[in-house]
Amino acid sequence: MARHQHRVRVEALAAQMALSAAEVKHLQVMRVRPGDTVQVFDGRGAAGEAELTHLDPFAATLRLLSRTETSSEYPQPVTLAIALLKGDKLSDVVRAGTELGVAHFQLLQTRYADVPDIGDNKLTRLRRIAEEAAKQSQRSVVPEIASPVPLAQFRSEGQLFYAHPGSPARLLDHLTWLSPLTLISGPEGGFSPEDLGWLGHAGAVPVTLGPRILRAETAPLALLGALAASGV
Ligand code: SAM
Repeated sequence: MARHQHRVRVEALAAQMALSAAEVKHLQVMRVRPGDTVQVFDGRGAAGEAELTHLDPFAATLRLLSRTETSSEYPQPVTLAIALLKGDKLSDVVRAGTELGVAHFQLLQTRYADVPDIGDNKLTRLRRIAEEAAKQSQRSVVPEIASPVPLAQFRSEGQLFYAHPGSPARLLDHLTWLSPLTLISGPEGGFSPEDLGWLGHAGAVPVTLGPRILRAETAPLALLGALAASGV
């Protein structure tokens, strides 16, 4: 049976690579030994296989053996722009959204948002969750998590959709993979008339997720699930 290979993040793929203190600790905990091979990725899309050549409590070095040619990324970057949610709900969305291929998360301040802002500690935790989920789902891209911006200041490139109950359009009927894709999902209280006015002004297309009302943490995963189920 093929042995599970550990995945470690490196600054950049190179013939010789040094690891961060966190990755050194990870290899020690996982009992990886010099001579073992691991998978390496740079968080920006490059990945490969490397041999651990040195490991001590403070440092580790790797020798690159090969680069991976196949990609587990969508043909265009997918941004999930999501209204701030209370409690730990954003952690769940970031973890699952990373598994489902999001390349960028943009946190949004909307009129009826559950909370007005999030602190630096929570943002740091979300970034760590994204890195762990990227490793777990064998992605070579670690999604960025951008600090919250008011919905009216959010700018995007390419196709823009937002989930809104009762909309006639369906995401997969309109989506193409010819340009970057941004999906916007609202807060538990929904979008305000001002939010909807701005979304219309920005040319965003409202899409339905069916006749049931989904929780604010479920709706973004339903949007992303539709992409994943299309098999791209
Ligand atoms: N009463 C709110 C309304 O009418 O918008 C319900 C908000 S819902 C709990 C939270 C968010 O999830 C919505 O703003 C929307 O982005 C998304 N959502 C939930 N159910 C949806 C559905 N069936 N179709 C499209 N979007 C949905």
